[in-house]
Amino acid sequence: AKAAGRHCVRFFEMEMDAQARMQHVLEIDLRNALARGELDVHYQVIVDVGTRMPCGVEALVRWQHPVFGPLSPDRFIPIAEDTGMIIAIGEWILRRACTDAMAWPAHIKVAVNLSPVQFRDPGLVPTVRAILATAGLPPSRLEIEITESVLLQKNAVITGMLTELAGLGINIVLDDFGVGYSSLSYLRQFPFSKIKIDRGFVSEMTQRTDCATIVSAVTGLAHALDMQTTAEGVETWEQFRLVQAAGCSQAQGYLFSKPQPADRIDFSRRGNGER
Ligand code: C2E
Ligand code: CA
Ligand code: CA
Ligand code: CA
Repeated sequence: AKAAGRHCVRFFEMEMDAQARMQHVLEIDLRNALARGELDVHYQVIVDVGTRMPCGVEALVRWQHPVFGPLSPDRFIPIAEDTGMIIAIGEWILRRACTDAMAWPAHIKVAVNLSPVQFRDPGLVPTVRAILATAGLPPSRLEIEITESVLLQKNAVITGMLTELAGLGINIVLDDFGVGYSSLSYLRQFPFSKIKIDRGFVSEMTQRTDCATIVSAVTGLAHALDMQTTAEGVETWEQFRLVQAAGCSQAQGYLFSKPQPADRIDFSRRGNGER
């Protein structure tokens, strides 16, 4: 039994080594990914709950690794954050999204995720301003999605940056509401234009009525504070009906569309159940 235990420990160490090696390989490869054109931005449609017509998209980065194939952002964004590469990568994503959006109807907004690490860059606001100007995109068409982890730093500098971005006319969106601490006090800390209600809540709404109650309450509060709400991860019509009943302004999820390349989005197509 003792020998077996030792084997287990040994195996665990080997696994650790393999994982660490893999991280290391990905880190090196990520350094070249931008230059080699392996990164791409896909877009997922966001629909207006009332009309079920597209009103915006969320930009989601993709990495086509030459050996491992497509890698989820959850695999490489943390590496990009740890190494600081997220500054250059995030800038590239923002530029791509703003440029791509110029080809879309003027009522379509484009949402871009910004990492907390990007807010440690004092050049962030000037960079965003320059990218908008170069692309020619009106700031009102850009949404910047941040998670509460940006606000956790409880830093006057960050609030200042958010205020400056909002001052440019950019919409600031609180992402993943309902996971982590998601204290309602965040809603006071900064005037968000929108709250995105996390997929976890939406998927539980169909099983648990208290979840549906919470979503209605959050939506009511948000609207009272002049903020819109988007329900994330809507996969079924049952979920869509609950999201609609809860009063959410917008919905996003596989029910309407998966993230896809810029040239494949159909903005004239209504999300409808008759299929
Ligand atoms: P997120 O910002 O919460 O993005 C939503 C995620 O949910 C996306 O995963 C999207 O593909 C997925 N999703 C959308 N609808 C559905 C649905 O109906 N069902 C299910 N099961 N999933 C759905 P993705 O693209 O893998 O991105 C994961 C996370 O990686 C994002 O979560 C975000 O935190 C981060 N990320 C993605 N792109 C970027 C980026 O350009 N910059 C930064 N900083 N982070 C990004
Ligand atoms: Ca997001
Ligand atoms: Ca989210
Ligand atoms: Ca998320």
